[in-house]
Amino acid sequence: MTLDPNDPPDQELLRAARGGDRDALEKLVAHHQGQVFRFGMKMCRDPEDAKDVLQETMLAMARHVGDFRGDSSLSTWLYTIARSFCLKKQRKQAPDAPRRLDDADVRDDESLVDRAKRPDEALAAREIEHALEHAISELEPMYREVLVLRDVEGLRAAEVAKVLGVSEQAVKSRLHRARLSVRARIAPLLGTSEPPPAPDAASCPDVLTLLSQHLEGEISSDKCAELERHIEACGRCRSACDSLKRTLALCKRSQAEIPEDVQESIRHAVRGWLSSPTA
Ligand SMILES: [Zn+2]
Repeated sequence: MTLDPNDPPDQELLRAARGGDRDALEKLVAHHQGQVFRFGMKMCRDPEDAKDVLQETMLAMARHVGDFRGDSSLSTWLYTIARSFCLKKQRKQAPDAPRRLDDADVRDDESLVDRAKRPDEALAAREIEHALEHAISELEPMYREVLVLRDVEGLRAAEVAKVLGVSEQAVKSRLHRARLSVRARIAPLLGTSEPPPAPDAASCPDVLTLLSQHLEGEISSDKCAELERHIEACGRCRSACDSLKRTLALCKRSQAEIPEDVQESIRHAVRGWLSSPTA
C-alpha cells in the first residue's frame, strides 16, 4: 500500500475503517505513518525505538479506530498515542543511556543533499541539517515535543496543547524557549553574522522572543510595529531575527522520509493483526 493522492480523505477512510474495511485501514496507516515515525525519531532519538513507537501506534489505531469519536483530527489523536509510547520508552531507559544519535542523523541527512546545487553547498547544507537535528535532540523532552509538533510537523498551537494535555499558553511559552535555544546553537553555521552589541545595546528589546510571540499571534500590532522599527534600525537585532526565521524554515523542511524497510515491517504488522482472530 503506497500513498496515493487520489485516495479518499481521512474522514471517509475512517468511516469505512470503522465499518471493518481493511483496505481503508491500511490506507490510513499509509497516510499517517510518516508523521508518526518522524515524531518518534525526534522524541526517542533512536531508529529502532521510533519503529517500535510507529508499530505500536498503528496497531493501537487499528484496534481502537471504532472508538475514535473524531472530536480532534486523526493526526492529533495519533500523536497523542505515539507520545504515550515514547514516554513509556523514556521511562524504561536509564537517564544516561547512550544515544544512537548518529544512526538517526545518517538517515535524516539525505533530504537536503539533492536540493543543494554544488558539492560544497551540499556539504554545508548537510552540516547545517546535522546541527539542527543535534540541537533539537539536545532539548529537554518537554521543549522538544513542542518544537517538533509545532515547527517540524506544523500543528497549530491549540492542537499541540491537545496532544500534550496542557494549556495553549504553556505550549507557547515552551515553544519560545525551544526556538531560541535551537537558533542559538545553529546560528553560527547560518552565516548570518551578528555584529557585536552597540554601545547602547542595553536598549535592545528581546527581539527573538518578540518575533516568536508575533508568529504565535501573541503581540499587539502596536508592539509589532515597534519591533519592526527597531529591527530596521539595528543591524544586530535584524540579523538575529533573520537567523531565527531561517531556523524555523529549516525545521519545517526537516521532514525525513520513512525508510522502506520500516514501511514494510509496519504493513506486515498491521496485516498480521488484521488477519488474527481478535481483529
Ligand atoms: Zn537591537
